[in-house]
Amino acid sequence: MESLEYLEKDIKEIIIDEETLQARIKELGKEITESYPEGTELILICILRGAMIYMADLARCINLPVSFDFMDVSSYGDSTESSGNVRIIKDLDDSIENKDVLIVEDIIDTGLTLKHIINMLETRNPASIKTTTLLDKPDRREMKQVEVDFNGFEIPDKFVVGYGLDFAEKYRNLPFIGVLKESLYS
Ligand code: 5GP
Ligand code: MG
Ligand code: MG
Repeated sequence: MESLEYLEKDIKEIIIDEETLQARIKELGKEITESYPEGTELILICILRGAMIYMADLARCINLPVSFDFMDVSSYGDSTESSGNVRIIKDLDDSIENKDVLIVEDIIDTGLTLKHIINMLETRNPASIKTTTLLDKPDRREMKQVEVDFNGFEIPDKFVVGYGLDFAEKYRNLPFIGVLKESLYS
């Protein structure tokens, strides 16, 4: 593939390269497949927007009949950090009642967003809810009770971009996970 020089010049450090990402996603797809009875119809719920690239690649490694649905949420309040009070910006299109659902997230930081989404979806009586996140910052976890079922990589507490994750809506199309040069934050 052509390199994305226009974006790559802003990256200080690559934390997870493309090959490592793709290899781990294959493994996760296998783990997920094997955790369900054969032929389970699974609904993948993409938490927009960051998880879209991960879900697109992951879905192609799950050997089950899957369907896609999408949810967009935002935190209440004016803090730059997640408050855990989550508002639905875009709800699921279909009912999840009596269905097996897998919530697909890009990154778990404090864990408050995911905890709130799980609580919300549980009230809709799905047959099961499991969760997967590509990245996890365990040092930042505020609610220890958020257990992710399928976790791609544990990373240090640094702000990362790429492979779906943005800074001001940019850098989502980088094929790796990286850290931006400090000069770009000021
Ligand atoms: P939490 O509620 O777990 O604190 O927040 C998780 C959300 O914060 C993620 O879904 C993501 O949108 C955003 N976030 C947390 N850490 C990072 C990061 O390092 N980079 C980017 N781009 N977004 C992050
Ligand atoms: Mg997210
Ligand atoms: Mg963002």
